[in-house]
Amino acid sequence: MTGEAVSNGLKKRIIKEIKVNLDKCIGCRACEMACSGFHAEPKFSSTNPARSRIRVIVEDRKDVYLPIRAGDYSSAECAGRNTYTINGKDYSQCSFCTVSCPSRDLFKEPDSDLPLKCDMCESVPPLAEPMCVQVCCCDALTYVEREEVVDVKEVRRDEIDLGLESLISKHGIEKVAKIVAQIARTSKG
Ligand code: SF4
Ligand code: SF4
Ligand code: SF4
Repeated sequence: MTGEAVSNGLKKRIIKEIKVNLDKCIGCRACEMACSGFHAEPKFSSTNPARSRIRVIVEDRKDVYLPIRAGDYSSAECAGRNTYTINGKDYSQCSFCTVSCPSRDLFKEPDSDLPLKCDMCESVPPLAEPMCVQVCCCDALTYVEREEVVDVKEVRRDEIDLGLESLISKHGIEKVAKIVAQIARTSKG
């Protein structure tokens, strides 16, 4: 996330989005390979869809493919299991859900079981477009940026949230909580 001051307490920031056109997705899963390769260490040293932050939910019998990017982690399944009917085809709520939750194996790092979350391929230097968009042959994924003016406090809160999420995904919540508690004790003096 980038920001530029516009006036007292307000800041411009760029909102990055990926639009998904389900009608164009052919289920090739190139996006999964590209995402996992980009996030491998070292970069592109391996590809493994299980480590991808985008997964293509395949509904074979309906000829439907749903590319879903990983969102937030939840320690519990949600209460609702709704079914949606679109153009005469039934979809479960989980098919569209971006959450890493206990009901399924998606969006969990296979070695550690830690949740995976799409980070829009943030890197230095920045990519012109996220990897999954770059490799999508059919324009099912398209990248858009828009500007928004927001309260500086909100931007800082978002930046702290992102930083914490990345630390938790790398080291686990218990280790991060322990370090934060140690820092809090030290700063109290
Ligand atoms: S994956 Fe399914 S059960 Fe889990 S939060 Fe999403 S909709 Fe609820
Ligand atoms: S934007 Fe980057 S991190 Fe997110 S799903 Fe696409 S390739 Fe993966
Ligand atoms: S790369 Fe594009 S067409 Fe292929 S599965 Fe992913 S979203 Fe669909």
